[in-house]
Amino acid sequence: MKIKKDDIVLIISGKYRGKTGKVLRSFPKDDKILVEGVNLRKKHQKPKKAGKKGETIEIPVPLDVSNAQMICPKCKKATRIGYRIEGDKKYRICKKCDKALI
Ligand SMILES: [Zn+2]
Repeated sequence: MKIKKDDIVLIISGKYRGKTGKVLRSFPKDDKILVEGVNLRKKHQKPKKAGKKGETIEIPVPLDVSNAQMICPKCKKATRIGYRIEGDKKYRICKKCDKALI
């Protein structure tokens, strides 16, 4: 999968379109990523102390990687990712500025 943990992505479709966030986890088997602050679901949390009310918290759930585009750290644009192979190393490259991405 082209998008990895700690990449910054732009959401390009759905309710969160236009939002950016950091990839917290990637799920290559399912082609899904978990992005900070995106695709939030409300979840009830049990009270920590007896007699107190439970809270509703919002947690991000994984979304389809096709809904996101990586933001290139070099040119700061949402971009498609390509690969370049040099010797036995494989780099991800930004298709906009052609720089190698870590
Ligand atoms: Zn770039």
